[in-house]
Amino acid sequence: MLANQLGRRGVRALIIDRHAGPSLQTRALGVQARTLEIYAKLGIVDRALQLGKRAAGANMWADGRWGARVPLGDIGKNLSPYPFLLILGQDDNERLMGDALCDWGMAVQWNTELVALEQESSHVTATLRQPDGTSRNLSAAWVAGCDGAHSAVRELSGISFPGAPYQHVFFIADTEATGAMVPDELNVYLWREGFHLFFPMRGVDHWRVVGILPPHLRDRDDLTFEDVKPSVHQKAGAGLSFKACSWFSTYRIHHRCAARFRDRRCFLLGDAAHIHSPVGAQGMNTGLQDAYNLAWKLALVVSGRAEAALLDSYETERIPVAQRLLQTTDRAFALVVSDSWVAGLFRTRILARILAFAMTIERIQKLAFRTISQIGIRYPNSPLSKTLPGLPARAPRAGDRFPWLRLKFQANGPAEDMFQRLDDMRFNLIVVGQPSPPDVDLALGDLLRSHVIPDDPANARELARAHIVAPSYYVLRPDGHVGLAGTCVKAADVKNYLAECHTRPQ
Ligand SMILES: Cc1cc2nc3c(=O)[nH]c(=O)nc-3n(C[C@H](O)[C@H](O)[C@H](O)COP(=O)(O)OP(=O)(O)OC[C@H]3O[C@@H](n4cnc5c(N)ncnc54)[C@H](O)[C@@H]3O)c2cc1C
Repeated sequence: MLANQLGRRGVRALIIDRHAGPSLQTRALGVQARTLEIYAKLGIVDRALQLGKRAAGANMWADGRWGARVPLGDIGKNLSPYPFLLILGQDDNERLMGDALCDWGMAVQWNTELVALEQESSHVTATLRQPDGTSRNLSAAWVAGCDGAHSAVRELSGISFPGAPYQHVFFIADTEATGAMVPDELNVYLWREGFHLFFPMRGVDHWRVVGILPPHLRDRDDLTFEDVKPSVHQKAGAGLSFKACSWFSTYRIHHRCAARFRDRRCFLLGDAAHIHSPVGAQGMNTGLQDAYNLAWKLALVVSGRAEAALLDSYETERIPVAQRLLQTTDRAFALVVSDSWVAGLFRTRILARILAFAMTIERIQKLAFRTISQIGIRYPNSPLSKTLPGLPARAPRAGDRFPWLRLKFQANGPAEDMFQRLDDMRFNLIVVGQPSPPDVDLALGDLLRSHVIPDDPANARELARAHIVAPSYYVLRPDGHVGLAGTCVKAADVKNYLAECHTRPQ
């Protein structure tokens, strides 16, 4: 994702990976709305939607009996062009992004391992072990450690990774199975000591089964699906039959967050920076959004259109996101795996009904969608976030992802999806209920594009839905988050803000 976003912005990166080729294991499964919004900008969203399955609902089973259905389809209606969770394996996601790299003339250099790093004031010297076993030194202006939980970049930079392992061990199996599972929907089997999840996968009767190992199997490292099958059968009820298992793996998860996401010219992203329980399908998505956050900043700096100080905001913005994620996934995980008798009773008797009831309430639905889909991620305390006085309390604030709206950009034109209309290669100035400052006043070259929203009843309704008042204006960063928010637009305020972002207009 980072290389793709840099490539789109004219910056070429060398991508190395010590593996021999792309992973064929599905691993993460849930693609969140915010990730799909970013895929749309990358031009891969249609393919992702074709390959994946929309999670229409989750069926909650307790002690082998169906208990309730939690509707999930379109729960984020009006909040995102992709108001659902897409089920698409990580291998497919990686393939789509790998293919997209060709568009920018890049490809992953496999069988190449980072073994040493030396930081100088102007560059980093990286030592790479090449496919033929020889080493070579490479000089790079910046290094992005997207190298997973055992990150060499993190370790070579001396950045600590505090946290701890969970006692539970997960298993994952890609199976062909028939049974009482509701087709094409998520099936969640809750039982006193834990849970099993059945995710519908592409193809007929293909289910990804995820669960925690029964305690007596936890310490074995020679397990196969045959060892786990009896406990799945016992808990998932009668009629379940497995015809095949194409992949089985176990993994012990940790919750850890790197003390820093940057050491001078080296950055950490994804699992190199944060790992946590898979509850909520956030891991892969958070890593992808780390990349989207860093890419526009790095591209501006590399192309000489911003000072390196802009890069300081990467960890200021992303560390709090990772820490909050660790806390929330920890709490959710504790609830679904707790061995306590009370928690077991809560899981099997109460949880399904509460969830099913809560999700019929629109406000709770929307809150749940905002949180899980990651569209609610905000950077209110970032040095790049500035809300000027005068805006009502419910209006979008600096740091928010700007709401998704359908607006007419020309008085007699059609209503357009504003996320498609906005150019994420530059800042966008949205002006409501007033004229924009003349171009000559702004004189920011291609750093910023202005959009004046015409007065129109349909626009007024749409803006009111997002609590956007007239007059107001918003400077959106290239990643779609509000940078500057105010009432009466003045060219000087916009220019000062962009200078505070350390950019240099050309
Ligand atoms: C079995 C399994 C199941 C999972 N299931 C889920 C799930 O259901 N939901 C969820 O959200 N998450 C899940 N995860 C976690 C999810 O896969 C990760 O969050 C995601 O892969 C992180 O992506 P990443 O690119 O940051 O790191 P990784 O995917 O770990 O990629 C790191 C890459 O860096 C390369 N590398 C490492 N060191 C070096 C080096 N020194 N030199 C060169 N290359 C190097 C590696 O070869 C690897 O390709 C699962 C993980 C596993 C292992």
